[in-house]
Amino acid sequence: MTVSLRGLLALLTVTAPGGGLAAQTLPQTAAERTGYASTSTNAEVGAFLDSLQLAGAPIAVSELGTTALGKPIYFVIASDPAVTSPGEAAAAGKLVIYLQGNIHGGEVEGKEAVLAVLRELAGARRDLLQKLVILVAPDYNADGNDAFDPQATNRSEQNGPELVGRRPDGLNLDLNRDYFKAEAPETRASLARVYDTWDPALMVDLHTTDGTRHGYLLTYSPPLDPNGPPGPTLFVRDQMLPALRKTLQDKYHEAIFDYGNVDNPVEPRSWDTYAPLGWYGTNYVGLRGRMAILSEAYSHADFKTRVQVTHDFLVEILNYAALHADEIRRLEREADRQTTLEGAGLALRPALAVTYKLGSRGVEPVVLEVMKPPDSTSVRGRVGGGRQQLLPTGELRAYRLPVNDRFVDSLTRPLPAGYYLPPAAGEIAALLRLHGIHVQRLTAEWTDTVETLVAQISWAPREFQGHHQVIIGGTWVTAPRTLPGGTHFVSTAQPLGRLVFSLLEPEGNGLARWGAFDRYLGTEFGPGGGAAVEFPVVRARRAPRAPARSRP
Ligand SMILES: [Zn+2]
Repeated sequence: MTVSLRGLLALLTVTAPGGGLAAQTLPQTAAERTGYASTSTNAEVGAFLDSLQLAGAPIAVSELGTTALGKPIYFVIASDPAVTSPGEAAAAGKLVIYLQGNIHGGEVEGKEAVLAVLRELAGARRDLLQKLVILVAPDYNADGNDAFDPQATNRSEQNGPELVGRRPDGLNLDLNRDYFKAEAPETRASLARVYDTWDPALMVDLHTTDGTRHGYLLTYSPPLDPNGPPGPTLFVRDQMLPALRKTLQDKYHEAIFDYGNVDNPVEPRSWDTYAPLGWYGTNYVGLRGRMAILSEAYSHADFKTRVQVTHDFLVEILNYAALHADEIRRLEREADRQTTLEGAGLALRPALAVTYKLGSRGVEPVVLEVMKPPDSTSVRGRVGGGRQQLLPTGELRAYRLPVNDRFVDSLTRPLPAGYYLPPAAGEIAALLRLHGIHVQRLTAEWTDTVETLVAQISWAPREFQGHHQVIIGGTWVTAPRTLPGGTHFVSTAQPLGRLVFSLLEPEGNGLARWGAFDRYLGTEFGPGGGAAVEFPVVRARRAPRAPARSRP
């Protein structure tokens, strides 16, 4: 990026007391400058990054892309010596980590914390760059960030700052539900520029939680979709996160725990994590066979405390990754190899989930704030319709609860050799390629025994993210079919083979659920009347022997 006027202005207007020349010229974040009364605009993020680069920090600043409202999505590569491509990073033996702030525009502390971490990479923490290349999108949802309004409007359960942005992006999409359908410019840019290009070994997604009132400064989650290659996810869940929890307690006296909520805060019965769907960023990364961590600072802690704990969590994640870089690399290489062998039928093809249920790791103490029903005479305790709103008491108590931190399958389908898509489904083939998936196209017809779904289809009455989701059930039939020339074939014998299943298996939570195949389902006026239709996605029992080409 060129040195801009805003960068020079930021440089000239900041000073840090004490320290040497570098300390005097390193910028402060908007949060630091205002005593945590405010959070950075996207332009202030850009100015901070320019100043940091001008001051000699080991960073290169560019843009992932542009938002719907025309704002730059800033993207930073921190490396020493500088690398500009994943090939150079691999040649230097560096592990690539991706940190993402502000996917939900009102959840602002991740953005401030990653900026502080980038500044420390210019000084005390520069050694991390001996092992790591650190990619950062500090303000991923720039449109949401800059839609400032009082927190009472945008984040009613949050303890400062007073003005924050709103959750969705400029298209009114929740970016943390967009990872499969990739409708948002932010998602499309990050798939192309981060995941397909850099293939980060570990991704960290920074949020704020306003769910159940608990006794932790931050809660976290590994990828939750059990369909992902198990090695990387189990490493995060069973080794990395417990070690980080201990480090945060021992070194910083910050209590952190698994993300969760209780059903009934007056009588908590279990501590339950969130949905395992790959529409969410960290679950999506798990399906790709890479490591990911969801970080949720506690919205009832004050802003400065939330920035601090998010910062400390990030620093220790980076320390851990640097220390275990070889093991992380080995686990991910093995996941790629195993997934490819499974798809090729050279290793046992797994049965993968199309529906899920919660699983427990056992009963543990979980610290919650004691909640009480309001006094029946209290006006404050009643909300619309007379429903009682619970009141926090300020008292923390450890409840012994099942910690439901994982999902297991409740209905499975075997991984097929691949999927056939109709010749006209070029848009879906293009979307799969945006995910980094290899798609072939038959150049001649091919007859084989395949699996087709005689589907019963209905649409959810309620709209969600601009879609009426499709509910698909039915009966699988094994029968010969002739696939015409032009048919797309998506093999599962590739490192992203389990992501292929998750996107294309009709009964699961993939693209079909988002309506990607609706136009193939019947007449001009839809299938109507609940009649059965043959679903246009066909499961292959073996790869086609017909001639095919790989480019669209
Ligand atoms: Zn969030």
